[in-house]
Amino acid sequence: ATPTAIMAAIGNLTKYGILIKDGQSLEELAHVDELIFDKTGTLTNGTPKVVNVTSDNPEEMMYLISSLESKSEHPLAKAIVQHYNSNDLAKVDNFKIHIGEGVSGSINGSRIIAGNKKLLKSENVPLDGIAECQNGEIQIYVAKDGEYLGCVYLADTLRKNTSKTIRRLKGLRIKTTLLTGDNEKTAKYIAEKIKIRNVKFNCLPQDKTEYIAREQILGHKVAMIGDGINDAPSLKKANVGIAMGNIGSDISVDASNITLVNDNIDDVPQLIAVARRSIKVIS
Ligand code: ADP
Ligand code: MG
Repeated sequence: ATPTAIMAAIGNLTKYGILIKDGQSLEELAHVDELIFDKTGTLTNGTPKVVNVTSDNPEEMMYLISSLESKSEHPLAKAIVQHYNSNDLAKVDNFKIHIGEGVSGSINGSRIIAGNKKLLKSENVPLDGIAECQNGEIQIYVAKDGEYLGCVYLADTLRKNTSKTIRRLKGLRIKTTLLTGDNEKTAKYIAEKIKIRNVKFNCLPQDKTEYIAREQILGHKVAMIGDGINDAPSLKKANVGIAMGNIGSDISVDASNITLVNDNIDDVPQLIAVARRSIKVIS
């Protein structure tokens, strides 16, 4: 049976849109000493917008990438298709999602790929002399039959109160870490802005779970907070998985111990304080 103090705390938190699976999840949370954040959709609002397009032939490039991305549910994909804003899309064959990297497929017999630098490099697309953006924007590279076509730049906005959340976690002596599939520049830009010192970029889902496993071996109790389908393995691997509720997928909610229905990540420090207090009552 779960002690009354814990049950009372869980019941109370429900009113604030914080859903906790069971008493053990709250107890585990009380012992957490590292909080790992996913970036897109967790620290940021997850609704990026296209802010720039660079290409010698922007019409062709936008037609191709929008056709390709119309097959994907990724927030970046949705933003691109919405920006293109046309029903005139090409038929895509052999569509493939490269998790944490981008998408590919063939259109009218040509192989189209769209994604991060890593994906384009793995397909041997020469990117020499192509400038990298410096200001935290997400840069998606597009190639056709192995040739660079251009870039689409998207910007995502930070959620409110993220800096305050990090500051409060530090006050609770909790190590903060950013793990993202995004590139070094964007990752460091965000980390610097909100003062997360520990940052790992270009992470595939398995890199995220491996990082968590290493920290656990070192004796850390880890909570992971994420939103996407990609995050499900690391939400499971962490001692405590926290899912964003609003835009979070059912899969990430299932994989987690705690759901923040209203997406208020600034509730987390308070939640940890409540967890610590409620285990004190029973011990
Ligand atoms: P995060 O870990 O920040 O939530 P993801 O793992 O979902 O990000 O994606 C990592 C990176 O892979 C993105 O920043 C983007 O460069 C690329 N990417 C992922 N999905 C797509 C897509 N559908 N189209 C283009 N690029 C993508
Ligand atoms: Mg994400």
